[in-house]
Amino acid sequence: MHDAGRRSVKRKRYALASALLAAAMLLAGCGGAGGAGGSGGSAGGGESGGNGGRGLSDGGKPGVVTSFYPLFFLASEIGGDRVDVSNLVPAGVEPHDWTPKSRDLVNISRADLFLYSGAGFEGWTDELLEGIESDSGVMIVEASEGIELIPLDPEAEAHEHEDEHDHGHDGSVDPHVWVSPKSMLRMAQNVRDALAAVDPANAAVYEEHYGTLAGRLEALDEAYERELSGLPRRDIVVSHQAFAYLCRDYGLNQIAVMGLTPEAEPKAQDLKRIVNFVKENGIQYIFFEELVSDRLARTLANEAGAETLVLNPVEGLTPEQEANGDDYVTIMEMNLQNLKKALQ
Ligand SMILES: [Zn+2]
Repeated sequence: MHDAGRRSVKRKRYALASALLAAAMLLAGCGGAGGAGGSGGSAGGGESGGNGGRGLSDGGKPGVVTSFYPLFFLASEIGGDRVDVSNLVPAGVEPHDWTPKSRDLVNISRADLFLYSGAGFEGWTDELLEGIESDSGVMIVEASEGIELIPLDPEAEAHEHEDEHDHGHDGSVDPHVWVSPKSMLRMAQNVRDALAAVDPANAAVYEEHYGTLAGRLEALDEAYERELSGLPRRDIVVSHQAFAYLCRDYGLNQIAVMGLTPEAEPKAQDLKRIVNFVKENGIQYIFFEELVSDRLARTLANEAGAETLVLNPVEGLTPEQEANGDDYVTIMEMNLQNLKKALQ
């Protein structure tokens, strides 16, 4: 997996450029989604296939496209049955290495609202925003707006660049904002406001759904505060460096094995350092996540005499979790149980 991650960046840039071109051609061919923008919109298209051509102007529900699971969760909870939400990164797919296809770009440009996390997570959005014609009528909202972002350690970042990852590619901040109930609450407010802006007639409904969701997120936040505060340990060893916001908000400290993208391969001396840290501090568990291989975490745990546990950065659900009815809140509750186990 990590090999693919390393070599694919240039190829992906090219692929994205051609996807954008293809999308532009498709749009032109379909008579354009542009027209009068948000309220006039794409009603004309008629035979515009798939789920394109949705929108308020059709007398239908607002079409919302989300980049990956946390945004899909927020839009679905707050939008409820008033919106038509589609998610770009499918279940079971790790989003760091994902880029949109031309079909995705067409769907985004025809939607009423495109929600992405931002803070550099979706490295492809800069080109996307350039590629979408300004008159396509889609409102584009960066859901991390207003969250105090965590700067990256410049030294660690220089190190990351050797792996040419394209996530957090602006290189200055950690993009994993949603991995904390506190910032998820802020993102929920932004999603509520965005939905109310594209569909003011249902603003009161969105406010009500938001209230229900905020209650769940606040309860989650309180559980994290309460249950983590009395534990003797503060250090968590994680495979993927995705927990900085969680650590900041609840007074923990992350030691990451692999870096910002789950495939970024660690150096031998870093592994040695981590094994030593685990041994010296009597750390019992090394965390890994479901969407990527646990091979490295298991190897490290064996070497350091520790065990492994799941800590899920909620970048996507597995098809099983989806079928079980798990969501952001239930997964974060499971994370809390495993954190408590590791920090005893
Ligand atoms: Zn990540």
